Amino acid sequence: MPAAKFICPDGQRVGITDCLRSCPQRCMFLPTLRAVANSLDRKLSEPTVTELIAGTRETYLKKTTDYAVDPASVLYALHGQAVHSINERHTQGNILSEERLKDDITSGQFDLFGKILDADDGVLGDLKVTSSFKLMKALGIYKAKVDTGEVYKSGVKKGLPKFRSELRFDGVRDLLDWAIQLNYYRMLLERAGFKVNRMYIQALCRDSGLRIAAERGITKSVYIIPINKISDHWLTRYFQHKAKALRDAIESNTLPPVCSFRERWNDKKCFGYCAARENCPHAQSLIKEANDDERLIA
Ligand code: SF4
Repeated sequence: MPAAKFICPDGQRVGITDCLRSCPQRCMFLPTLRAVANSLDRKLSEPTVTELIAGTRETYLKKTTDYAVDPASVLYALHGQAVHSINERHTQGNILSEERLKDDITSGQFDLFGKILDADDGVLGDLKVTSSFKLMKALGIYKAKVDTGEVYKSGVKKGLPKFRSELRFDGVRDLLDWAIQLNYYRMLLERAGFKVNRMYIQALCRDSGLRIAAERGITKSVYIIPINKISDHWLTRYFQHKAKALRDAIESNTLPPVCSFRERWNDKKCFGYCAARENCPHAQSLIKEANDDERLIA
């Protein structure tokens, strides 16, 4: 099912159709709200690459239950779509873009393929608009605690060593989801007869220029990030497994197991970012626990 309701700024819920038809005082321009509604439309059709990369429970709930979203929380996704449209309008000269390819497991729409970086006509590119936090992780940047050689002279920490944070740029790159997505597009393209030589993500940082981004070592507004090849055998097994788990759940009308630790971002996604959280028992119990803790403290 598609998202059925919008959450208004005052917390009220209103059917999306009702909002678009006759809201007395809209929180955004009507075309923006229409674009948000359009971006949320998820049908019970064959799952896409991105739907299979998400947690099976999340995709199952989004496809089978009504859910409500705050339109403001979807605006970043619209930024991404706008960047795609802008690029698509400038693909003269043997560049393919936004083609949907499918196999017997899933389907996916790659962003750009061809001479997009240099003379090599086999470059596959994906466009992302993302946060400095995600970019920091994708680039392997992390903060290390460094001993300053000084000690606290007073207070509860008196006598304890003082540390400061230093940025390091040699960490493990945390971009598995991006790599899986782009590699599946590569596989679909190669099966369609195109030779993919290299893969890259072009990531626009949506909070670049802010102090928080600089503190994370993100000093540019755009990064080109090379993506390594993942074996076709691994990809096929992974997507077959995820597609079967989703299909079985839908056919038997059974809620899939809780999303993996990675898929649910160590529960952070369940608290505020997963659109399916209202219908997910795991998220509801986390939220209840947090509310109970807050009440105890108050
Ligand atoms: S709320 Fe968390 S566990 Fe539930 S579907 Fe969303 S990501 Fe998965």
